[in-house]
Amino acid sequence: MFYVVYVNHPTSKAMLHSTDCWKYTKRRRDKTIHGYWSKTFKNVEAASSFAKNTNKSNIGTCVFCIKGEVNK
Ligand SMILES: [Zn+2]
Repeated sequence: MFYVVYVNHPTSKAMLHSTDCWKYTKRRRDKTIHGYWSKTFKNVEAASSFAKNTNKSNIGTCVFCIKGEVNK
C-alpha cells in the first residue's frame, strides 16, 4: 500500500490517505482550484513529512482509509 496527501487550500489542510482510498481512486483530477493530490509515498513517514512541509495548519489522516495507523 502506498500513501498520498491531499492538500486543501481553502481549509488549510493536508490529509494523508492510502492509495486504496476511494477518495483517491475516485478523484476526477489531481489538481483543482481548491487543492491537489501529492505524488505517492512508500510509507506513512514520507507522506507525513510532505504534509508537514506544506505549512498547512491542519495535518490529519483520512478516517476512511488510514484511521489511527499513522501514530503507531
Ligand atoms: Zn482516505
